[in-house]
Amino acid sequence: ERARLSRLRHTPSVTLDGEKVELLANIELPGDAPAALEAGAVGVGLFRSEFLFMNREGELPGEDEQFEAYRSAVEAMGGLPVTIRTVDIGADKPLERMSVNELRHEHALNPALGLRAIRWSLSEPAMFRQQLRAILRASAYGKVRLLVPMVAHLNEARATLEALARAKQQLVEAAKPFNDIEVGAMVEVPAAALILPSLLRLFDFVSIGTNDLIQYTLAIDRADETVAHLYDPWHAAVLQLVAQSIAQARSAGKSVSVCGEMAGDPAFTELLLAMGLRSFSMHPSQISSVKQRILRTDARRWAGKLEQVLQSDDPQSACTDLHRMFAAAP
Ligand code: PEP
Ligand code: MG
Repeated sequence: ERARLSRLRHTPSVTLDGEKVELLANIELPGDAPAALEAGAVGVGLFRSEFLFMNREGELPGEDEQFEAYRSAVEAMGGLPVTIRTVDIGADKPLERMSVNELRHEHALNPALGLRAIRWSLSEPAMFRQQLRAILRASAYGKVRLLVPMVAHLNEARATLEALARAKQQLVEAAKPFNDIEVGAMVEVPAAALILPSLLRLFDFVSIGTNDLIQYTLAIDRADETVAHLYDPWHAAVLQLVAQSIAQARSAGKSVSVCGEMAGDPAFTELLLAMGLRSFSMHPSQISSVKQRILRTDARRWAGKLEQVLQSDDPQSACTDLHRMFAAAP
């Protein structure tokens, strides 16, 4: 079994019909990078940078401390791409330390709908630019991509790109090296999925965050046990938003990945391939089982059944039926 898994790690992830699929890792701290490589990831699709900010009593990490952390992840990945997401603070990821704005969100009635993620960053311009400079500086040591969480408004996109331009200018003035980096948006608010063509004109790539997309589409708090049974990734509304986002990104010629739990759940692998997804980002421990699914899937055959699943009253059973049908007539 060990030998089989190690063989699998070096096996390229290609579908039965020859479609190449990129399997990336989600990491929380630079120390997770070796596990990503060990699992056979070809890059980091989501570095949740807020983990550098959480669970600490004292000061928040400044530019240099962040730079060291990003650089160490980038160096550990040895030239493979590392997608660093700007802090997704707030809601289910609160800070220990209080700043004026944290106080505001502590008291928010509805923190998931409050000052979190890019909204929080844009409300703390000095801290945001510190993080952007730290990420840019890490780009001198490998391939860095920047990812923006919770984008819902075009203005947030524009303000982020302006902050990035300002951060670059500051680095030029300080004679600190950096490379050009691609900038992507998370699609995790239904509004972002619905205005995706406009967002795609501003961003180089998108990454679909199904965890929040489910929460906001179904109006189910992802952390509330009392409604956990209604948190349904198989809901047709969720699947339609995911399918539509993948199709629109592809037709705009931009790369698209899924980095929410759905990407690492083998129950969704065939369906996501059918939607045209060719880049999945997940916890390193999920890579081998998703890869095994990919190796056994005829993506074209599944794509032929996509509409049927999306229009079904019960997409989950529709997928189960397809599995049975394809297994009976391989
Ligand atoms: C998501 O929302 O799907 C996602 C990947 O981000 P997080 O789980 O960190 O909110
Ligand atoms: Mg999210």
